[in-house]
Amino acid sequence: MWRDTHRWSRLYLTEDVEQCARRITVEPRTEHLNLHFEKMQSTSEDVGRLKIAIVGFGNFGQFLAKPFVREGHIVFAHSRTDYSNIANSLGVSFFQDPHDLYERHPDVIVLCTSIISTEPVLKSLPIQRLKRNNLFVDVLSVKEFPKNIFLQVLPTHFDILCTHPMFGPESGKDSWKDLAFVFDKVRIGEGKSRTARVDRFLDIFEKERCRMVEMTCAEHDRYAAGSQFITHTIGRVLEKLDLEATPINTKGYETLLNLVENTASDSFDLYYGLLMYNKNAMEELKRLDLAFEALKKELFGHLHEVLRRQLFGKAEEAGQRRILTKLPKNGYALPAPSSDAIKSQKTTERISESWYVCIFVGDLLFWDSNDVVLT
Ligand code: NAP
Repeated sequence: MWRDTHRWSRLYLTEDVEQCARRITVEPRTEHLNLHFEKMQSTSEDVGRLKIAIVGFGNFGQFLAKPFVREGHIVFAHSRTDYSNIANSLGVSFFQDPHDLYERHPDVIVLCTSIISTEPVLKSLPIQRLKRNNLFVDVLSVKEFPKNIFLQVLPTHFDILCTHPMFGPESGKDSWKDLAFVFDKVRIGEGKSRTARVDRFLDIFEKERCRMVEMTCAEHDRYAAGSQFITHTIGRVLEKLDLEATPINTKGYETLLNLVENTASDSFDLYYGLLMYNKNAMEELKRLDLAFEALKKELFGHLHEVLRRQLFGKAEEAGQRRILTKLPKNGYALPAPSSDAIKSQKTTERISESWYVCIFVGDLLFWDSNDVVLT
């Protein structure tokens, strides 16, 4: 794939461009040699292969490695757990020690650890071993947090690209077509080679036909709290109900079962990270809680009205609203009110034959006659 135009490029193309650059810098710097180096760099760009190091080779790291390899990039990985065998099977070189990984001079480092371990992992990496000009990428499901950590911890000569593939090993198992890939070029230094490197990395997702969405990390977090966090929360609530497929599944129910499957396979660290490291998430959790309460009140409010009409319809019309006696809060069945009281309100024998259930929902008190089923 290299151009057969120059002896130098023929000599060094099978080697790392970085090593080649070092060889050149120990020789006297002449215009001539600089020209050779420029040519070699552009030849390497034509080849288009990146050396990508994935830090955090768990569920999502392994999932990402596949297209990286498929598109011809050289992929390295490091994780606290030994994933050598899995890495081998994926065509990835695994390094238990990050020093060994960094000595391979990757062009791009993709941070793929859990949200909550990001800061200690980043701070523990021997970044002094990296070449001077490097691209750091993160794929965390929250965005402002890694952006701020990167800006704090990484030297200014490192480029920063914050990304969030809005899909995972379940939702993206068949194809990434039309799945959103969010990115924010937080800090990309000047120079053609640096912009080309970012473009080449983004190109991986474009080639997989992702829907590329450029937006700020703050915008992402605002949208994601109202969508992704809510999705995960509902999925986890439903998981607690232990839903099972039935012979009469509706489409809607199938959707719920799929939601549980999609969210339950993600780690709890991921879910917890969505709440802890997105400042908008707590607000959404409160809104969800309020919405559930409001819905219950609305639902039981309707029930209350039906019962009230059955029990006291005419009496209420006459302005004699019945005052309910205080009843236990735990839904015990209670004997019916005295028939005299009821007769005087013309609510007929049907009611006098009934038993009543009293329930409390939040701070509302409802009555239910025994011919209305509460589930
Ligand atoms: P995760 O539970 O969020 O992260 C697991 C990864 O974090 C593993 O590589 C694990 O390493 C590493 N890790 C956890 N605690 C660590 C610690 N104390 N020190 C060092 N490494 C630690 O699950 P995940 O699904 O693989 O997600 C990884 C990242 O991708 C997360 O930031 C997540 O937000 C993002 N993401 C995930 C998805 C998804 O659908 N799963 C989608 C988009 C983005 P070991 O395995 O070696 O222990």
